[in-house]
Amino acid sequence: MVRKKNDSGKADKESPNLVDLLTPPGKDGCFDGEIEYPNDVAAIEPVVVQEPGDSGQSGDVVDEDSFDKILQDGMLCTSCGLYKTRAHFVLGEGNPRATLVFIGEAPGADEDASGRPFVGRAGQHLDKILVAAGFKREEVYICNILKDRPPDNRTPTTDEMRACTPLLQRQLNLIKPKLIGLLGNTAIKYVIGPDTPGITKIHGQWYNSIFAIPCMPMYHPSYLLRYGSRAVGSPNWQMWQDIQALKKRYDEVFAALP
Ligand code: SF4
Repeated sequence: MVRKKNDSGKADKESPNLVDLLTPPGKDGCFDGEIEYPNDVAAIEPVVVQEPGDSGQSGDVVDEDSFDKILQDGMLCTSCGLYKTRAHFVLGEGNPRATLVFIGEAPGADEDASGRPFVGRAGQHLDKILVAAGFKREEVYICNILKDRPPDNRTPTTDEMRACTPLLQRQLNLIKPKLIGLLGNTAIKYVIGPDTPGITKIHGQWYNSIFAIPCMPMYHPSYLLRYGSRAVGSPNWQMWQDIQALKKRYDEVFAALP
């Protein structure tokens, strides 16, 4: 795949301060040039999302799904063992008709305590990145593959993610997003495939996913917090390039919606 490039001629500058949200994009002249997209982006086909309960057979009686039903089912779910240790089930939040959904791996301690996704330091960092790129948090939807926190924030197992996927699929069926931002290696390898190269090699490019929705691998905000540097080539700098590319594609897709 072809990596995007910054042709602003100012690639030796640091990325905007995403932690402190110093400068809106473009105002300081950084990274406001045209971005060349990977070739495969142009080939992204319209997303076909399976309807709730659609078995492909005519005459089925289909109960209409809803976020309330998913929430109720999730709170009763015992499909993996994580329900035993959770404080709160964390479904997700945002625009129920969002064109763009961000998916991470699992709730952390703050999310488990509050029942809301991405509300801790990492979530606040993500909020600032979104705002810096021109997104409003309320226009996107944010959730995780797992709805319950793994103890001690350990990495989710594949079996746990597989057990929780029907809930996420139902969310996506309702939202019908056109694009997904995948946050972090664990989510990336589950949603794109276990043989997917590491995030440092594939971030910012477009891939298809198990949900048949184009997705962009991105750094998890908690990873970005561990690397405070915003120097050229740093994870924060790379994230800044990626979120701008995502915003540009989002605007294109949004403008083409009927
Ligand atoms: S993490 Fe998901 S699959 Fe596991 S018990 Fe919770 S809701 Fe069910």
